[in-house]
Order: sequence, then structure tokens, then C-alpha cells
Amino acid sequence: MTDILNAPFMTEMIRTVSVMYDHGWDERNGGNISLMLDEGETAGYLDPGSVLRTIPTGFAAPELDGKYFLVTGTGSYFRKIPYAPEASLGVVRLRDRGEQADLLWGYAGGGQFTSEFPAHMMSHTARLGVDPGNRVVMHCHPANLLAMTYVHPLDEREFTRTLWQMCTECVVVFPDGVNVLPWMLCGTNEIGLATAEKMKTSRLVVWSQHGIYGAGKTLDEAFGLIETAEKAAEIYMKTAHLPRINTITDEQMHLLEQRFGVKAREGYLD
Ligand SMILES: [Zn+2]
Repeated sequence: MTDILNAPFMTEMIRTVSVMYDHGWDERNGGNISLMLDEGETAGYLDPGSVLRTIPTGFAAPELDGKYFLVTGTGSYFRKIPYAPEASLGVVRLRDRGEQADLLWGYAGGGQFTSEFPAHMMSHTARLGVDPGNRVVMHCHPANLLAMTYVHPLDEREFTRTLWQMCTECVVVFPDGVNVLPWMLCGTNEIGLATAEKMKTSRLVVWSQHGIYGAGKTLDEAFGLIETAEKAAEIYMKTAHLPRINTITDEQMHLLEQRFGVKAREGYLD
């Protein structure tokens, strides 16, 4: 067996959490990531027959039976993951309709996956339904997106349009827009179900007064989506108190659609 810490998916995960921490998106134990692994990716790094322990998930996700995930641990500090990956990360394989997770590596010291595991797994199921290539669900607390949920209406069309107007590339990067949940109690199956429902129509779901969820085929895609939305929110927060005398018009956004071959979410542009 090769040391799993040398696996490409592991080094990419560790680099990603480091950059997220450096961006200020993951204070203390804030934020969590789940990365679905193909069995081929884990071959040579993990013995699929060697189960360290089994952890009940508290929910059902039958579509994910047999799937492997690299998941950040509950209470783990992104700041410290590079120094203590085996304590802060784990590889689990779901079984029994997703109600049990076999731990194959990690969570040394007796930990387990993030308390947002329900939102992650339900979001994976939802995204796989619309994009069979989806592999990543990422959650964090970017300051400007969070700030925006205090001062901007939470209507999804309005929220999306405001972000699109803040940077030219936004409508190209996330033409599916952002969906928005009102404040809800985190760590529950209820917020998991609500997030998954929103994930059916957008790869970005804002949790009001809390943070954001991003999904994608790769860590780069999920990270890039959040990074771009957060940049737009930053421009909004820098300008919201000032008279706005210029903007990106819907006509200009239609030009962007044509130039870059994307289609903005139905009904979101005039
Ligand atoms: Zn959070």
C-alpha cells in the first residue's frame, strides 16, 4: 500500500483547505468538504476490506450506497488539517441505504465526519441527479456573502442578479445563479433536505446569516464558484452604500451569454 497522504486526491484536498483558510472563509472549526472518490482512485491506498469502525449517519441516502467519500471531520480546524490530516479527515464508504458509514481511514482519536454530513450527502444525491460528474460539496463562511444576507433581499432572482451585476464574469461562471435558504438550524436533516432541494437548480446555495454551499465536478470547480460569488459580494458590500451610477445591463449579459456559450437561468434576465 502506498501512503494515502501521497494520493493526488489527498494532496489536492489539503491544499484546498489551506487556501480556504487563508481566504478567511473557515475560522475556527468552520467549513467542511466532502469529495466523492472513485474506487479506482483509492486502489493501492486503501484496503476496502479493512474497516476501522462503523458510524451511523442518522439519515438515508440509498443512491450513495457503496460510494467512498473523503470528508472533513467534526470540530476539525482547517488551519490545522495540513499538520494533522489523519485526525481531521476521514475516508468513509456508505452502506445500508446510506444509514451506516464504514470508516476506512482517518478520524484518528475517535472523531467522525462533519456535523453537516446530512447536508453534504443529500446535496451529493441531488447534484448527481442533474450532473453525474459531480464529486464535491463544499461549505464555508465567506464574509462578504454572509454580510450580504443581512442587507440584501433574499429573493433568489434578485440576489443572483445583484451578484451577476458586480463582476462581468459572474454570469459566465455561475449562469445557474445562486439559491438562498433563510436562516435555519444547521447540522440537522431538515437543513440537509432543504439544501439538497436547492442544489437541484444551482451549484451554489447561500445559507443566510451563516455561509454558502458550493458543488462541482472537482475541488477547483466548487472552490472557483464560491470564490467568484464571494468576489461579487465584496464589490456589492463596497458599493451598496454609495449611489450606483453604472451597472452591467441585461443587454450586456446577453452579449456575454453569446460570446461564452452559456445560458443564464431561465427568467433571470429581461
Ligand atoms: Zn458553517
